[in-house]
Amino acid sequence: MNIGVLGGGQLAQMMAQAGSSLGLSFMFLCPDSHACAAPFGEHLCAPYDDKRAQKRFAKWADVVTYEFENIPLAVVESLHQQISLHPASSVLSVARDRLAEKLLFRALGIPTAKFAPVDSLTKLINALEDIALPAILKKRTQGYDGKGQALLRKSSDLSVAWEKVEKVPCIVESMVAFRRELSIIAARNQKGEIVFYPVSENHHRDGILRLSISRQDDPMQVRAEAKIRSIMDNLDYVGVMALELFQVEDQLFANELAPRVHNSGHGTIEAAETSQFENHLRAICRFPLGKVSSTQTSAMVNLIGRLPVEAQIRKIPGASLYFYGKVERPGRKVGHVTLTGSDCSPEEFDLRLAALLQLVGESELAGRQFFDFTRANSHYLHQI
Ligand code: AMP
Repeated sequence: MNIGVLGGGQLAQMMAQAGSSLGLSFMFLCPDSHACAAPFGEHLCAPYDDKRAQKRFAKWADVVTYEFENIPLAVVESLHQQISLHPASSVLSVARDRLAEKLLFRALGIPTAKFAPVDSLTKLINALEDIALPAILKKRTQGYDGKGQALLRKSSDLSVAWEKVEKVPCIVESMVAFRRELSIIAARNQKGEIVFYPVSENHHRDGILRLSISRQDDPMQVRAEAKIRSIMDNLDYVGVMALELFQVEDQLFANELAPRVHNSGHGTIEAAETSQFENHLRAICRFPLGKVSSTQTSAMVNLIGRLPVEAQIRKIPGASLYFYGKVERPGRKVGHVTLTGSDCSPEEFDLRLAALLQLVGESELAGRQFFDFTRANSHYLHQI
């Protein structure tokens, strides 16, 4: 079967690697001439809206999917009219717009931060009569890794923040004093069957995910599953979805959804019986979903900006190293390391993780005592 992927980054790359054992072939439509997925299939290097490229892509592919939300919606809608495409273009129209996404959560009774749409400085000022400071202003579309956002601490920040988001339609939302940031990933097929991966606890710096830890029996697992299930069922979703959540006391607030494989799920390659990448392909190709049954603690550490010394990482037992073949550049995800803990005690796992974090330059995270959620403490509190 031929799978057409819109995008050619590391998510497309890992999808294609997972697809080889399913006998799938890949074509990537991606305007980047250095697309890191290119060695794993055919690279159609053209702008997404190039009609000739789209025609060739649609003719070749049996099923189309995408690796990120910022593909022009018109392109996805046009392809969807010609060919099987998952997740559906109607899903993308919700997931790429922070307002539509938040309205969906609200309609499903899923708590969120207080929010309001904003399309002028006056509306922003008015919205903040109801939403107290501190708050965050976010572009409705095209934001990722903390880009397209501005923090509002005091009233004098408003006009600078409005300039910073380039005066485009936004939402403003209250700052949530969360205890933990979590994500849950699930795969759903056409029959409505769903498999859930263990919840990940996520740690960001400068708006970029640095570390995800998944442990067995996270106390928020069941609640997170109920929330993602209600969203997937409502959208009649096919494929893998990630739902990003804030834990406030023992309540979960939805922050955003990703209609695709997700960075916090890279550890499923090693820790789960079927990875998120394979289950995404299984769902969109109408193959039976694979078992998830993950029985081990795992952590995923992103390599941001530069690659570490490979030999040092290899000395850490249970570490698997991925380099995406990208040029090093500040703030860019150039690889990741997964650490699994099937052969050691939780204490030993924490020590190995601390060593790994030191080696990749995340010394601030390495020094934290956050590793076991049962030892929850004030380090969970978000400090912006
Ligand atoms: P987002 O692009 O919405 O995922 O935001 C990037 C990061 O900013 C999140 O992972 C959080 O760490 C932080 N953040 C976003 N929205 C909020 C909020 N309403 N309250 C507190 N922190 C937030």
